[in-house]
Amino acid sequence: MRHNKGLFFGLVIAIFSLTAQLEAQNNTSYWQQHVNYSMDVNVDVDNYQYKGTQKLVYTNNSPDELSRVYYHLFFNAFQPGSEMDMRLQSIADPDGRMMADGKSRIASLSPEEIGYLRVTSLTQDNQAVSYVEEGTILVVELNKPIPAGGKTTFEMTFNGQIPLQIRRSGRNSSEGVALSMSQWYPKLAEYDFEGWHADPYIAREFHGVWGDFDVKLTLDKKYVVGGTGYLQNPEEIGHGYETPGTKIKKTKGKTLTWHFKAPMVHDFMWAADPDYLHDTLKVENGPMLHFFYKNDKEIVENWKKLQPKTAEAMQFFNKNIGDYPYDQYSVIQGGDGGMEYAMSTLITGGRNFGSLVGVMVHEMAHSWFQHVLASNESKHEWMDEGFTSFISSLCMDQIMDQNKENPFAGSYQGYYNLVASGKEQPQTTHSDRYELNFAYGVAAYSKGAIFLSQLGYIIGQDKLMETLRKYYQDFKFKHPTPNDIKRTAEKVSGMELDWYLTDWTQTTNTIDYGIKAVEAEGQKTKVSLERIGLMPMPIDILVLYNDGTQETLYAPLRMMHGEKENPYPNLKRTVLQDWPWAYSNYDFILDKELTNVKAIVLDPSQLMADVNEENNVWQAQE
Ligand SMILES: [Zn+2]
Repeated sequence: MRHNKGLFFGLVIAIFSLTAQLEAQNNTSYWQQHVNYSMDVNVDVDNYQYKGTQKLVYTNNSPDELSRVYYHLFFNAFQPGSEMDMRLQSIADPDGRMMADGKSRIASLSPEEIGYLRVTSLTQDNQAVSYVEEGTILVVELNKPIPAGGKTTFEMTFNGQIPLQIRRSGRNSSEGVALSMSQWYPKLAEYDFEGWHADPYIAREFHGVWGDFDVKLTLDKKYVVGGTGYLQNPEEIGHGYETPGTKIKKTKGKTLTWHFKAPMVHDFMWAADPDYLHDTLKVENGPMLHFFYKNDKEIVENWKKLQPKTAEAMQFFNKNIGDYPYDQYSVIQGGDGGMEYAMSTLITGGRNFGSLVGVMVHEMAHSWFQHVLASNESKHEWMDEGFTSFISSLCMDQIMDQNKENPFAGSYQGYYNLVASGKEQPQTTHSDRYELNFAYGVAAYSKGAIFLSQLGYIIGQDKLMETLRKYYQDFKFKHPTPNDIKRTAEKVSGMELDWYLTDWTQTTNTIDYGIKAVEAEGQKTKVSLERIGLMPMPIDILVLYNDGTQETLYAPLRMMHGEKENPYPNLKRTVLQDWPWAYSNYDFILDKELTNVKAIVLDPSQLMADVNEENNVWQAQE
């Protein structure tokens, strides 16, 4: 509940401004694996089956010898009895898209409707290797271990069946998109400083190996294909990819082979439909945008209006985070809501205009927070969904002229609701192992967004935005971890922030500071504050006087060993003594008589996620 809005007297949150200062990074012990995929895949659009070959050159940049590797076989999740099915049947708040009449849609799939992905042969450096399928994971025992720094080549044949669309990918989406092909190929699991991440596909979140993809897709020539990667043969394909005015030669035969290349990505998605419209728009000093959407008169107008907004969003992110590194980005109607992929997104298209822009902005922001800053989102979902939510709230505020007092208010309300429910789990919980989808959603999106907005409260808004830009520069094309964002903020702000990362992301400790007493002390006024919650915070204090004047005071947290700049430069600010966390009580003196004091407010920005705001405001008795 937020009762005290009226008392903030139009104080606005400091403007998020830009001054990049890039320093060379110095994490020399960092390493990551590398993949080089070549795939040649034939898709039968009538029976939804496909066959392919995959050659994978794998470079082991780790200091370890590897005697095993793992592949993800995501489509095996869409079978009755799979872990995804069992989880759906046992969780108290299942995803409505995956349910019908209160029952798991996976449980009722017929053999013709299930998904599968089967490896039919596999060699390592031309020698057959043994492998075993365990649900959505293929476990491969190597003939010869891959030494530290070594390279090996895997070659496989595989076949798959595209499931009825249940979640993210599949055939015949609810909006009639024929093929939404994400998580569709045997994908090597990531090995990093923590070891293997061969997570079964149960519900959500991914972690992949950085590398280069060369993909040939052969399918019915009526279909239009969009997705990750640059098309290598546009003049053969046409369908809106050709240079305008080029005449496409009619080919014999019923199929076309689409050849895509995607450098430095960790996933490859495509979608196809015979009725896609395909528009392009060049962003000024930026990539070419592609739009694929059904020729459906209900949605066409919104999808045309979406195009310049997509360019604006791209420019907003370029400016506030850092330059988008690819030459192409595609917004594609497909999937079951909105999901981010390398150089592209699948979103549902039948939405009102605001919702369509909102989902595009969110998914495009993931290009920075996941497809370039590729945190392990299974383990650190808040760094992906949360940071994406944070920057998309700012972007929406600007490009849709929302001018909200607090663009993150919804995230704070979600977090307060979760705390009140008693169902909160720490953000260190694996994304599949939250008790409730609700608890996952708030921890990842809302509490994750607040990690940044509240960091702005702690170190100052300019330093926050500088932190984001430096974080992007230092960790792009890597797998940043929670400590990396914390260290970046420390380097930028000069403050110690270990306490913040620890309490906010690894515990469910809450913040509750309050005004305990305001008393006359001779000609002056004594204000007594108290810390009730376990989580530490620095405190901004706004004092309003009866003569209409205002001043602010600032009690830095001692363990920060630093102070932020005055967030309200138009008001006088007094920096008080540090508040050592272990002290529950903290007093300070105002240089005015009690009768002059009208009100006192803790954190007028409302960016500190204080779970009890009742005690943040003191008002003089009328
Ligand atoms: Zn997201």
